[in-house]
Amino acid sequence: MKRILHLILFLLLFPLFPDVPEQIYARKKTEKFILVIDPGHGGNDLGATGRRSHEKDLTLKIAKRAAKLIRRHTRNTIVILTREKDEYISLEERADMANFFQADLFLSVHINSARTLAQGTESFVHRKNRNSWTEYFAQLLQLEYTYYAKRKSRGVKRANFSVLRETNMPAVLTEVGFISHAQEEKYMKSRRGYKKLASCIYRAFKQYKETYDEALKH
Ligand SMILES: [Zn+2]
Repeated sequence: MKRILHLILFLLLFPLFPDVPEQIYARKKTEKFILVIDPGHGGNDLGATGRRSHEKDLTLKIAKRAAKLIRRHTRNTIVILTREKDEYISLEERADMANFFQADLFLSVHINSARTLAQGTESFVHRKNRNSWTEYFAQLLQLEYTYYAKRKSRGVKRANFSVLRETNMPAVLTEVGFISHAQEEKYMKSRRGYKKLASCIYRAFKQYKETYDEALKH
C-alpha cells in the first residue's frame, strides 16, 4: 500500500517523467554495460517445431554464439544469458532476471512459425514503447539481417509480449526466421546460417553500444 502511495505521489510530482535514456546515463556513467540475451523456450517448452528442428535448440545456439562474439569483442560489457542449456524457464523469470541485474538492454531471441509460406526476420518492441533506444536497437537488428546476412526483413513491429512488457529497460524480441519455411529452417540449422544470424546480433549490439557510449559523453 505504501508503495502505491509513493507511486501516486511520484506521478503527481513528476507529471513529465523524463526519458529513460537520461536516467540510464545518470546511473551508469562509470559502470559496465549489462546486456541480457534470452534464448526463447527450453526444456519441455520446445517452441515452434520445424521438419528437423525445434525452436528452443536454434535460439540457444544463436544466443550463445552472439554472447561469445560480444564478450570477445566488446569492451565494458557483461553479457548474461537467461539460460545456458536446454532447460525450462518461465517468461516471468526471464524478465525478473533482467530486472534483477538492472540490465541496460534485453534481447529475446525467437524463431517464427506460420501455416503459410511466410519467411523473413522481424523484431518486436512493446506495443506501448516510447523509448527511442528500444526502437533504435530493433532497427539495427533488421538492418543487419538485411544487409549483412541478406535475409528478408519484415520490419520492426509492436506487440504485447510479456518479456517486453515486464522488463524495465529497452527490450527487443527478435524473430530470426521461420522454422516452418523449409529453406529458412535449413539456413538456421546450418553452421553458416546460425553463425551469420549471431553475427547480426553482435553487429547490431556493437553499433548500439557505440552510439550509447557517444551519447554518454554529452
Ligand atoms: Zn518463440
